[in-house]
Amino acid sequence: MQHTKFLDTPIEYLKGVGPVKGELLKKELGIFTFRDFLYHFPYRYIDKTRFHQIRDLHEQSGQVLLKGVLRRLETLGEGRKKRLVGRFRDDSGAIDLVWFSGIKWVENKLQVGSEYIVYGKVYAFQDKNTISHPEMELAAQVNQAERPVFDPVYPSTEKLNQKGLDAKNRRKLLRQLLDLMPASALAENLPAYLNQSLQMVTHQQAMAWIHFPRDQDTLEAARLRLKFEELFFLQLRLLQLKGQHQQRFKGFVFEQLGTFFHTFFNEHLPFELTDAQKNVLKEIRRDLRSGVQMNRLLQGDVGSGKTIVAVMCMLMAVDNGFQACLMAPTEILALQHYTGVQAYLEPLGLQVGFLSGTVSGKKRRELLSELAEGKIHILIGTHALIEDPVQFHQLGLAITDEQHRFGVEQRARLWGKSKPLPPHILVMTATPIPRTLAMTLYGDLDVSVINALPPGRKPIQTLHKRESHRLQIMGFIRQEIQLGRQVYVVYPLIEESEKLDLLNLETGYHALTREFPPPQYRISVVHGKMKPADKDYEMQQFVAGKTQIMVATTVIEVGVNVPNASVMIIENAERFGLSQLHQLRGRVGRGAEQSYCILMTGFKLTEEARQRIQTMVRTNDGFEIAEADLKLRGPGNMEGTQQSGILQFRIADLVQDGKLLEKARAIAQEIIARDPSLEKDENQVLKFYLDDHFKSWKGWNKIS
Ligand code: ADP
Ligand code: MG
Repeated sequence: MQHTKFLDTPIEYLKGVGPVKGELLKKELGIFTFRDFLYHFPYRYIDKTRFHQIRDLHEQSGQVLLKGVLRRLETLGEGRKKRLVGRFRDDSGAIDLVWFSGIKWVENKLQVGSEYIVYGKVYAFQDKNTISHPEMELAAQVNQAERPVFDPVYPSTEKLNQKGLDAKNRRKLLRQLLDLMPASALAENLPAYLNQSLQMVTHQQAMAWIHFPRDQDTLEAARLRLKFEELFFLQLRLLQLKGQHQQRFKGFVFEQLGTFFHTFFNEHLPFELTDAQKNVLKEIRRDLRSGVQMNRLLQGDVGSGKTIVAVMCMLMAVDNGFQACLMAPTEILALQHYTGVQAYLEPLGLQVGFLSGTVSGKKRRELLSELAEGKIHILIGTHALIEDPVQFHQLGLAITDEQHRFGVEQRARLWGKSKPLPPHILVMTATPIPRTLAMTLYGDLDVSVINALPPGRKPIQTLHKRESHRLQIMGFIRQEIQLGRQVYVVYPLIEESEKLDLLNLETGYHALTREFPPPQYRISVVHGKMKPADKDYEMQQFVAGKTQIMVATTVIEVGVNVPNASVMIIENAERFGLSQLHQLRGRVGRGAEQSYCILMTGFKLTEEARQRIQTMVRTNDGFEIAEADLKLRGPGNMEGTQQSGILQFRIADLVQDGKLLEKARAIAQEIIARDPSLEKDENQVLKFYLDDHFKSWKGWNKIS
């Protein structure tokens, strides 16, 4: 089609760009085509309606726009200190403009005595307000030209600025491109019926206004339209994908709830299921017998009892002659699941296997052959499960227990593990994730929520303490141990400061040993540098109640379950993220006893750290904490989301645009429900845009 061709034109063909600048745009900004250039939106705008008064400027003024006369221009200093200084004055006062490079050129271009419009960032140099390398335009020229009220500012780099691709030039090139563009190039991408009900500006109008808005209103209108588009088309694609999965991928039918399930439910289940757990099991049960492959996300707060749900789902698979697997993000968690599940299921006569990178040699060979023969009913392990040599006899259900750590790609690899149909998939998150993130990261899945904790839990009391409380805390630990409880003490450990972190842990361990000496007291230590067998031994000692204190790094973060532990002490708590803190806190409060989480920090905290700690002290609700985390850190910085291309929005913002996202998803849902493959005439425009646009989007290939 004609109009795609125009936008696909290599950027160097734009007049004024050429091969050198073109190369630079590719390298520095990833702009290869006219389309890329156009879809590289401004990140802010200079409001040219209002001029600042020089008298009012101060260091916090930031970017300012001034109108006045250039009074003087002189070169000062020698060699590397050489600089060009201009004296610039308006009715209210004067300020210095400074250039450190390109001095000759600037000097020749500027006219002393003329009126200029100056734009730049104020900083204080030796108590004097200064602007370095300002943008300057002759006021006379500006007044003549028909000029925008807002000037767009684009992300740039030093190199681009040096090669003449500064803000001003970018604007000129963009204007030219917009003028040059045939009307059909930016064809409308929403169907008429939608435009009518949404009452937003057209795609073309929005694309013009996002670069050159006339005023605040046009800018907002353009933003709203483009944000909506971005969210809507992603949702449409995700939901279409979901629909296609369901059409294309028939699922194994687990017709019956058989002997294993019933025996377990009636004779071995150690507690009454909560209503929330029962509801989720019903939802999953419905999926598993529907004839369509299940792709479901199970969200539930820490301690809400996701594991038992997973176990009972696996029994549904086994009852129908299938195998099931459960994949965890760390060795320790996988082992813990293995031990727990084995204890549940061995009495039923089921074979449970364990596989991780550390299982090797003969043991591994035997395991793999038993798995292939179907002698092993349930396999538990780390991501070693999805490696190629692992062949199941008949995998019917794959469960992942993740701290949003498994990507969509890994999920996809699980699909290949069974024939002729892909296994049913259940994804469990370790802590809740915010709704907007879930809709995006897991937008192609159905969602179940366990929205209540098992009965009898006392809310964990969370306290913020500092070094000066150390003695008091030791006393408290002693008291809890005397009551028969167990205590975690957790230290941060990150690669960058690994040595120091380990040292801290060791120092802490020794201090605790002095305070709580053997044989009366026993202390376990677990950290990532230990051999897995040693880790396992130490862990088991604590699980069995043979040690009272567990000193550890965050390896225990996910999932570990010791109901008798009642105190979680987190050292350097300011260095942990919110969801990590919540995860750690979730290691206690699993029994009937009152539990405590003590956050130890230094005296000086950054504002963000302070808010994290306050949030922890204020609430135990994982869903609330997840939302706070998203607000504090932004979607791209939350655990496990860093590599996710799917969160790289051009303009939409998952923190601010939650409502718009809900709306976009609801509309997309309606459309897909009526027209799953977008075949109706009225929806051709959607189909075309989806195919055309997502081709070139980097985040996309990760999920399609
Ligand atoms: P998470 O959802 O964080 O994975 P777990 O599955 O580890 O939580 O369960 C936390 C604790 O609650 C475990 O000790 C588990 O045995 C217990 N538990 C789970 N469901 C119930 C229930 N319905 N009643 C009582 N205790 C339960
Ligand atoms: Mg768990």
